[in-house]
Amino acid sequence: MPEESASPSVIRRSDPARVEIEWTDGGRSSFAAAALRRACPCARCVNELTGVRTHDPASVPDDLTQSDLRLVGNYALSMTFSDGHHTGIFPFGLLRRLGPPDVS
Ligand SMILES: [Zn+2]
Repeated sequence: MPEESASPSVIRRSDPARVEIEWTDGGRSSFAAAALRRACPCARCVNELTGVRTHDPASVPDDLTQSDLRLVGNYALSMTFSDGHHTGIFPFGLLRRLGPPDVS
């Protein structure tokens, strides 16, 4: 299965500081909420014209948590971070690059 077409079969939020995804191809990925916040691709974090990150990843505490995790259509996840940020939409392809699945 081409990587970009894999989608989550199970999304788990067992720990508020993490997101765990089981993919339809059998792989599993685990993300720290802080790592997702630092990689947020939204227009408030990345300049849409230049692609330059305008949000300082160093400002994100390691113990950041997330809530309100939800699917966006059939291509992405969104969530609300404990710093109040909620405009990030994380396409599955981006998640697969951020947290390459462990297929073992
Ligand atoms: Zn953002």
